[in-house]
Amino acid sequence: MTNFNPAQNRGEAVRLSEVTRSFGAVRAVDSVSLDIPAGSFFSLLGPSGCGKSTTLRIISGFEFPDDGKVFIGEKDVTRLDARRRPTVMVFQSYALFPHMSVKENVEYGLKVRKMKGPDREKRVQESLERVDMEGFLNTPVTSLSGGQQQRVALARAVAIEPDVILFDEPLSNLDVTLRQQTRVELKALQRRLGLTSIYVTHDQEEALALSDQIAVMRDGKIVQVGDPKSLYNHPKSAFVASFLGGSNILVDPKQAMLLTGTPISKEQAVAIRSEHISVVGEGGMVGQVVSRQFLGMITEMEIEIQGARLSLKTTQNVPDSTQVFVKIEASQVVSNDL
Ligand code: ATP
Repeated sequence: MTNFNPAQNRGEAVRLSEVTRSFGAVRAVDSVSLDIPAGSFFSLLGPSGCGKSTTLRIISGFEFPDDGKVFIGEKDVTRLDARRRPTVMVFQSYALFPHMSVKENVEYGLKVRKMKGPDREKRVQESLERVDMEGFLNTPVTSLSGGQQQRVALARAVAIEPDVILFDEPLSNLDVTLRQQTRVELKALQRRLGLTSIYVTHDQEEALALSDQIAVMRDGKIVQVGDPKSLYNHPKSAFVASFLGGSNILVDPKQAMLLTGTPISKEQAVAIRSEHISVVGEGGMVGQVVSRQFLGMITEMEIEIQGARLSLKTTQNVPDSTQVFVKIEASQVVSNDL
């Protein structure tokens, strides 16, 4: 694979300032402001319908905001057509032309941009080398595997040398193993190219693995932005804690006190990450086992303690009884925002 100097390919920063977009009564994007640094991998993460795709489409120019502004680099692109923006979109379905070869697919955008023959050939070759697909020039795309098609889609995207590459759940069509492998490749490619990448997903693991920064969205709003570790370790709200970390949330002050010794107000909740609950021999709190699933490396359990249901994951060999002793090793106070 060719080594590229990322400094030569740095993308542009993207900035959204109080962007709003409604569809009838639905505020799909509600006063969203974001600063996405040049060359970074930035994810929009949130449940279905929270406004991720609409935000991405507004950045790409396929959709326009009712209010607010979009900047790419120094330039205000708010009213600029998608074709005139230095952005490219990679879709879930790859959107490759099925009747064309790999070469023709990658070449297409360059022809549209009226790039001359010899330059075009060179660019196609370079783009395919970047994704390790140079040996497939004349292969029909329909005879490629899902992962290979994904790489061709990437080659086609980088061929036009965009400043910003936008991904709308690009891995969701792949099976689990291929998804994880493609994730690693995607991250490596992004590092090499130094392109600003904005990635939409509802998969928290994917966002944590890929991103320099993540914006968590809910009901059209950004609820928290941060790097993966700080979001995972310091969620501000019960929503972020449960969406990102699979935390158990206690909203009842009495239960919170009994289980964690933490006093909370009505506006607060206690978040307990499942890996922070361990099964101990004796001396912990007594819990009733509600369910237990042996998954090889780990066992997932649901346990009822003092009326609260907690889920936990353990690598321990837990006793096969209906009652266990558990210890809560860490918890944190977050806003009671479910
Ligand atoms: P998903 O992961 O399911 O794609 P999302 O987070 O990307 O969800 P959006 O697709 O941006 O969310 O949709 C946000 C809200 O706006 C939803 O309620 C959706 O139904 C609505 N919406 C989006 N596009 C349109 C449209 N063209 N016309 C009407 N409503 C729309």
